[in-house]
Amino acid sequence: MKIICVGRNFGRHALELGNEIPKEPVLFMKPDSALMRPTDKFYIPDFSTNIHHEAEIVIRIDRIGKRIQRKFARKYFSQFSLGLDFTARDLQDELKAAKLPWEKAKAFDQSAYVGTWLQVDDYDLNNLNFKLMRNDQDVQIGNTSDMLFNIETLVEEISKYFTLKIGDLLFTGTPAGVGPVSHGDTLNGFVEGKQVFSVDIR
Ligand code: ZN
Repeated sequence: MKIICVGRNFGRHALELGNEIPKEPVLFMKPDSALMRPTDKFYIPDFSTNIHHEAEIVIRIDRIGKRIQRKFARKYFSQFSLGLDFTARDLQDELKAAKLPWEKAKAFDQSAYVGTWLQVDDYDLNNLNFKLMRNDQDVQIGNTSDMLFNIETLVEEISKYFTLKIGDLLFTGTPAGVGPVSHGDTLNGFVEGKQVFSVDIR
C-alpha cells in the first residue's frame, strides 16, 4: 500500500506558505509505515518543534489501474474520508531551502491519519464541505470545489506515473489555515457536519 499526496492544491494555502500556484499537481508520497491506526494518539516527534496539521480529503483506491482517464476515475474508488497530513514544517522549510526532498518532513512515522470511511455515492464529491477544529476553534474550513485540480483530474494525473493498487490512499491537498499542534490538543475532523475523527496530540 502506498500513500500519494498532493501539495498546493488550494490557491490560498499555496500563497499562505509563500508558494506559487502550480500548473500541474505537486505530488509526493508517504510509506505505509506513516499511517496511524484509528485509535492512535499522535506523538510529537523529537526532531521537530513545529508540527503542522493539514486536513485533507482522502480517497481509497479499490481497483487496480494505470493511465486512467478522468471520465473513468470514479470507477476506481468508492470510499473517502477526511484525513491529516502531519508535516514537520521547520524541517520542510530547511529541506526546501536546501532544494532537498521533503520525505523526512512529510513521511515520518504517524504522519498520516484517516477518519471513518464514507461512501462517495452519498455525497457530491466536487462540492464537499469539510472542517478541522483544533480544540474548540475552527482552524481549517474547505470545500472541494476550491481545488485547483479536482479529484478526477488528480486520479488521471497520478496514474500517468504510478499504477494505483487496491488500498492505496490519495491525500488531495489542504486548504488554508494550516498551523502548529501542541501537546494536549485534540483535532476534530468533520465532513458535511458529520464528525469523522478525533485525534489527541501528545
Ligand atoms: Zn498536505
